Amino acid sequence: KSDLILSVNLVLVAPYQRYIVKEILGHGTFGQVAKCWSPEANSYVAVKIIKNQPAYYRQALVEISILRTLNQTYDPDDQHHIVRILDCFVHQRHLCISFEMLGSNLYELLKMNHHKGLALHVIREFSHQILHALVIMKDAGIIHCDLKPENILLCGSKEKPTAIKVIDFGSACKEGRTIYSYIQSRYYRSPEVLLGYPYNTAIDIWSVGCIVAELFLGLPLFPGASEFDLLKRMIDILGEQPPDDVLRESKSTSKYFKYVGSIHSLDFDESRKGCHSAYRLLSDEEYESREMKKPVIGKKYFGNLVTLEEIIRGYPYRRNISEKEMAEESVSRSALIDFIKGLIEFDPVKRW
Ligand code: ADP
Ligand code: MG
Repeated sequence: KSDLILSVNLVLVAPYQRYIVKEILGHGTFGQVAKCWSPEANSYVAVKIIKNQPAYYRQALVEISILRTLNQTYDPDDQHHIVRILDCFVHQRHLCISFEMLGSNLYELLKMNHHKGLALHVIREFSHQILHALVIMKDAGIIHCDLKPENILLCGSKEKPTAIKVIDFGSACKEGRTIYSYIQSRYYRSPEVLLGYPYNTAIDIWSVGCIVAELFLGLPLFPGASEFDLLKRMIDILGEQPPDDVLRESKSTSKYFKYVGSIHSLDFDESRKGCHSAYRLLSDEEYESREMKKPVIGKKYFGNLVTLEEIIRGYPYRRNISEKEMAEESVSRSALIDFIKGLIEFDPVKRW
């Protein structure tokens, strides 16, 4: 809507504060984020201006309440790498939320590095900081539901970032109030959400696994062009399918799998010797006839490399590194594989 397009130098007026709009930092379905100068605070702030529609308004109130709880109750000293919320007010029927001003997001950082990945010591530090955020989110029983590189921002400059912070609690919810089933951005979507299995904070851990791999590779680990494509990529890379316990209890299992009988009946079926699941993934043709849609298949980035081990050890487009760094990496790559495997475990109970 045209009334959402903010002109530079428009002044948003809160009861005791002015915000002078300098530039637009981002757009989304929710509205816009503007970089503003606050004369009273003598600093820049980021102001998220929410669309004047009831659904967005209500969700923004959830974002405010969740962030306030996380900031004030769980992280009063700002040690857990979660963005600080500063203020909120209504301006011309638009709910506005101001945040501390942060820098570029991790997607922009990867792009700036021509998608060749980051140095391992940087990945280690960023992973550590993201986990610092997730620790208090778990304590608070809050699920972010949209962790991805775009929602992790650098503090400090792009050239000399000092830390990262998690932003965008606009899709977040409380554990036990998981009312939405269509959540998480597709590449970072957990198997529980994909299959329609009850979910909790473990879905954020899955997304972190995807993010850590992407920081190393420079490209998404599971660039699913559709949900079926996403599931097939997960199964290829992990070398197994989701456990039967999960498939049995998931609402959407029949969208992707054929039930081929109880484990018990396997003994009688010569063609299924050595197979331990009662479910078989549909072929593309079966999927098409069952779902009445073509199975959209995305590009394969990793060539012949299939498993997580092969991809992490052998991906050729990773940044050019010195011999010294390479020596350090060969040891650390094994640790990285272990780490990612603990995070992208199909079974949410076994997942770290
Ligand atoms: P959405 O729900 O549309 O994803 P976000 O809260 O993620 O909304 O904000 C959209 C974009 O605005 C972000 O990806 C980021 O580029 C920018 N942005 C958001 N918050 C800040 C901030 N505190 N500092 C700087 N840029 C921000
Ligand atoms: Mg976002």
